[in-house]
Amino acid sequence: PMDQRVVKAMLVYMTEKFGNASSAHAMGHDAADAVEEARHRTANLIGGSHKGVFFTSGATESINLGLLGAARFYRDKGNHIITVRTEHPAVLDACRRLEEEGFEVTYLPVDNYGLLDLKCLSDAITDRTLLISVMYANNEIGTVQDVGSIGEIARSRGVLFHCDASQAALTEPIDVDDMKIDLLSFTGHKMYGPKGVGVLYLGRRRPRVRLDPILFGGGHEQGIRPGTLNVPGIVGMGTACEIVRTERLDVRAHLGHLRQRLYSQFRKRFPEVRLNGHPRNRLPGNLNLTFYGIRAKAMLETVPEVALSTGSACSSAIPKPSHVLNAIGLTPNMAAGTIRFGLGRGNTESELDEIIKLLSERIQEWRRRKEDVAGCTMQDAGQP
Ligand code: PLP
Repeated sequence: PMDQRVVKAMLVYMTEKFGNASSAHAMGHDAADAVEEARHRTANLIGGSHKGVFFTSGATESINLGLLGAARFYRDKGNHIITVRTEHPAVLDACRRLEEEGFEVTYLPVDNYGLLDLKCLSDAITDRTLLISVMYANNEIGTVQDVGSIGEIARSRGVLFHCDASQAALTEPIDVDDMKIDLLSFTGHKMYGPKGVGVLYLGRRRPRVRLDPILFGGGHEQGIRPGTLNVPGIVGMGTACEIVRTERLDVRAHLGHLRQRLYSQFRKRFPEVRLNGHPRNRLPGNLNLTFYGIRAKAMLETVPEVALSTGSACSSAIPKPSHVLNAIGLTPNMAAGTIRFGLGRGNTESELDEIIKLLSERIQEWRRRKEDVAGCTMQDAGQP
């Protein structure tokens, strides 16, 4: 859900102060001031300059603008891009588009925990490499990459570093200067802000990142992202960033506590359960588990009262094993027995206890049904 403080801040700019931020009258100035305040608040969360903050319609647009825009702008300098197999489709599909335009893309593997090997990254850089794109934290398995070291490698080799921090912005520390992040994308709805608003941050110094726009029109957002500004959404984003800046550690601790409870309860009941993603370097609110002998998708359909995913929401309509689970070595059968738990700060211990009870019953029922235990076996489900 959106934070009520975010909703309240946004409502003002939908009703009383509804001016267009580009209009040269008092109402327009009010809207423009609110946008600038949101820009500062956003910059404060990520340790950057407000001048590098560009508002978009979400992380998908930020990523597309960042990757396509930078690759096209710097085309004379090289044609090679490096990314990782476990990235979000917004990154992977933007890279595929760049391949169609003649760029070469290296999709690096990850280990069984979903971590990128830094030597492998270093070795993949050539004198034609323009850009490295690595997500801060994975949306499916929660693995958090060593973003600071990736930034260090990229900067030392003169390559731009784009980081998709959509999943990380709520709970992980971000400092674009310290972490040497040249382009950063994230989105409002993963941090109790609104859907349909995102941020692309472009570094200002050493190097100052330049882009070819992907949209054309009025000169809004310094011509980088034309179109009438979504003032309420931007105000909501700024408010969400301010709340995260002050409450991040509390949210992190709360989610971590809930996740630990959920995991230990499942382990108690199902000692062979497999934890996907890194055991320590992971998002506090993410738990991704493989149970043997179940078909998670069909099983979850029988518990409509809980909103759980088997893969990423973006691809769960497609009956294909998740590319992330595949990249960390799960077989299609293991992927079929996998459930992804996404916890929110509003969840309570009693909700978790209910879910544990409900799912434990269902899992045991599935295992008793001899006719369909074609899911993964107990051996399959062992720890990586
Ligand atoms: N990147 C990651 C890691 C995500 O989890 C998401 C999720 O929605 C996105 C990008 C895309 O964000 P949006 O849907 O706001 O465009």
